[in-house]
Amino acid sequence: MATDVIVIGGGLSGLSTAVDLASRGLSVLVLERSQHLGGRAYSFADEQTGEEIDNGQHLMMGCYHETRWLLRTIGSDHLATLQPNLHIDFRHPQRGTASLDCPSLPGPFHLLAGLLKLKTLSFTDRLKLLRIGLAIHKHSESIEPSIAALTVHQWLDSLGQPEENKKYLWDILAVGSLNGDPKVVSALLFYRVLRAAFLGGKENSSLLIPKAGLSRLFDEPALRYLQSKRGEVLVGCAVDELVSQGSRVKSVRCSDGLKHEAKAFVCAVPWYAVSNLLPANEPARRAAERMTASAILSIDLWFDRPVMGEDFVALLDSRVQWVFNRSKIFGASSASGQCLALTVSGADGLIDKDARELVALAVEDLRRVFPRVGTATVVHSVVLKERRATFSQRPDIEPLRPSSRTSLENLFLAGDWTNTGYPATIEGAVMSGRKAAAHVSEFLAR
Ligand SMILES: Cc1cc2nc3c(=O)[nH]c(=O)nc-3n(C[C@H](O)[C@H](O)[C@H](O)COP(=O)(O)OP(=O)(O)OC[C@H]3O[C@@H](n4cnc5c(N)ncnc54)[C@H](O)[C@@H]3O)c2cc1C
Repeated sequence: MATDVIVIGGGLSGLSTAVDLASRGLSVLVLERSQHLGGRAYSFADEQTGEEIDNGQHLMMGCYHETRWLLRTIGSDHLATLQPNLHIDFRHPQRGTASLDCPSLPGPFHLLAGLLKLKTLSFTDRLKLLRIGLAIHKHSESIEPSIAALTVHQWLDSLGQPEENKKYLWDILAVGSLNGDPKVVSALLFYRVLRAAFLGGKENSSLLIPKAGLSRLFDEPALRYLQSKRGEVLVGCAVDELVSQGSRVKSVRCSDGLKHEAKAFVCAVPWYAVSNLLPANEPARRAAERMTASAILSIDLWFDRPVMGEDFVALLDSRVQWVFNRSKIFGASSASGQCLALTVSGADGLIDKDARELVALAVEDLRRVFPRVGTATVVHSVVLKERRATFSQRPDIEPLRPSSRTSLENLFLAGDWTNTGYPATIEGAVMSGRKAAAHVSEFLAR
């Protein structure tokens, strides 16, 4: 019997499409070019230590509702911890430590209370933070059109945010969620992130932290789930061509020369890989060709002794933005040392430096805020460069992001770059996958 649906790409958007369709009883075949599932979110065993490391530390939030559906469906939600209340520690070399600590109040009052206690800022500046709290509380129909063409900084300026507020709060949140310079990336997307996090239930703003490698969290359980249903996954299988007949795709031709047929197809490849597959006149292809990439740099450091106590911290006035205490989060004993995972988003300016230079600058940034680094030794390090971590989320790109439907009746798109209304994140990828699955099942029911 012919497969119901072929999904091209086994990243989180493709896996979500497949899991959703399989949960509806459809037969699904996932074709993935590389040897591993997960796309830009996967883990592997470090050669020297044998420990599981990610291609880059990922952080999620309580408002990642579609992602949490995926984790529950594939049975791995126990491998991520949701904070009881939003709590982020910030460290600054001169200003010391401060926390964004949102108390147990309904949203957005928990945010307003948290902002008022943020000690890295003067009290006058903290009061100005509340303007953002009020802006996100207004009706989105009245705000969105007025900020659609703005960058994050232009929007923050229009709301009277002083440099200090940008530097010591908004920038680190914007760079982390939009993977780019706040002078360049879209205000609209940042506004939507803030609304998703800070309106509605208070758990929306809590951070959801993986306590296992990304492959154990997403890819392996998704594979098991698909195999337990009517799903099949082929890795090392690149799709080279979509073979169409009239207004429909009939089959796909893979790099091994084999053809696979199905009733419907979902193309869940990244923006930079889509042009080879879609017809030249497809609007999504033209959008993809306008997109550029933004890099993320991850540096994993193994110290011979513990150097930090927190689970994770955000660093201010620093090239490294986030430090995750992997040993603690993963529950490893700290007796023999400590493994920290460091993240630099919007890393285009650093990505070409060599690994030794990057490790040295990372250690220097850490030493300024964790004095114990001065007496500790780095016994091992891994530098991971993801040059095309996400597309560059500029305001002029946002209106171009394509919908899931294409001009071919039975071909649909998924991927963090499609028009989810959300930034290029895990949640955007999963959202796009579920949207595509809904369109496919509607098409097949016709
Ligand atoms: C270092 C790093 C850190 C990140 N941090 C965060 C974070 O903290 N929080 C967060 O929410 N998000 C984060 N992200 C973003 C998140 O990982 C991505 O948005 C998400 O994984 C994208 O999923 P996707 O399915 O849309 O695309 P991809 O993951 O790129 O999946 C597409 C898949 O298609 C396959 N493919 C391509 N061409 C073909 C072909 N011709 N045939 C078959 N298969 C093909 C690719 O091999 C790939 O597996 C981070 C990303 C990176 C790289």
